[in-house]
Amino acid sequence: MNKAETKNILVYIEVADAAPVKVSLESLAQAKRMADEKGEKVIAAVIGQNIGDAAKEAAAAGADKVIAVDDAAFADFNLDVTADVMMQIIEKEKPEAVFVGGTQDGKDLAPKLGAKCATGCASDVVGMKLDEQGNIDFTCPLYSGTVLEDVVIAEARPQIATLRSGAFKKLEEAGQGEVVAESFTVADDAVKAKITETVKELTESVNLEDAEIIVSGGRGMGSADNFKLVQELADLLGGVVGATRPAIEDGWVPRNHQVGQSGKIVAPKLYIACGISGATQHLSGITGSDYIVAINKDEDAPIFSVANIGIVGNALKVLPVMIEEVKKIQAQ
Ligand SMILES: Cc1cc2nc3c(=O)[nH]c(=O)nc-3n(C[C@H](O)[C@H](O)[C@H](O)COP(=O)(O)OP(=O)(O)OC[C@H]3O[C@@H](n4cnc5c(N)ncnc54)[C@H](O)[C@@H]3O)c2cc1C
Repeated sequence: MNKAETKNILVYIEVADAAPVKVSLESLAQAKRMADEKGEKVIAAVIGQNIGDAAKEAAAAGADKVIAVDDAAFADFNLDVTADVMMQIIEKEKPEAVFVGGTQDGKDLAPKLGAKCATGCASDVVGMKLDEQGNIDFTCPLYSGTVLEDVVIAEARPQIATLRSGAFKKLEEAGQGEVVAESFTVADDAVKAKITETVKELTESVNLEDAEIIVSGGRGMGSADNFKLVQELADLLGGVVGATRPAIEDGWVPRNHQVGQSGKIVAPKLYIACGISGATQHLSGITGSDYIVAINKDEDAPIFSVANIGIVGNALKVLPVMIEEVKKIQAQ
């Protein structure tokens, strides 16, 4: 796409349970900040079925214009279909940049759009600024966050990026954009894979990405039985349970609770880490947390380097005390 003819930022809004997912709203907010700096507009694309309320929410969250594509044919996310609709929107709107929330589906969609547009795709973006030429300079972590890389897509357009959940804050006040209903058709031969059936996971669903409080346990919890303390504290605080990979591999918690590089990237207001050493693969998933409390019996554990409060002690003794204290406060 010719650089000179592109303008504005397009944001793909992923919808779950009829509402935009948190990272999509964060992406919208960041698009607004960047667009304001350039005197440009933010366009959001909401694709699915019964997405009217989600489109309105996007219009109130930073989008100047929301393209609402409400069609039963797009009810379930299908990569080929969504990419095809997004390409039609890209060709029509000619955006300078396209932001996609870094969810499971977003991580599939963005590079596919990058390939179709013959442009670059910055992955897992945690920061961005404009360079002197007006290109977006994306900050992307590498090697589980041990290195930060600057990615600039200098000539090709649009500049495509997946944004990490929790890296950018939603807007406090965003104004009110317009919602425009549009329809698109996708040719049969554009769809290489068809979804024949959607099976709900048998384990209980857990929304770690949007959780405000997460209590996580690691190998230091010692057993599935001890892990019940993590669950109890999470329940009392109205939070959800997270876990490290070893705790999952030992079968103490279902796999969908894994936090970290190969699990979920989280950004809660409060993250309580119990018996977790703080390996880089775990830390790279929690650095977006506002406040981290760590309980570990080893005072040299790396988790303390990122914790706001560190408690050196046996989690099996500390957690029951915390649980009792929370109960006392809640009873007041
Ligand atoms: C490619 C790759 C991807 C990975 N992805 C992930 C990922 O997504 N998420 C993830 O978590 N890991 C991931 N890992 C694994 C990661 O490298 C670490 O092995 C893992 O995070 C360590 O988990 P842990 O902290 O529970 O266990 P450990 O490192 O064994 O730490 C246990 C900690 O508990 C403390 N402890 C022991 N007993 C107690 C007690 N009674 N009270 C308090 N503290 C106690 C110990 O001092 C220790 O610090 C990945 C690894 C690889 C190679």
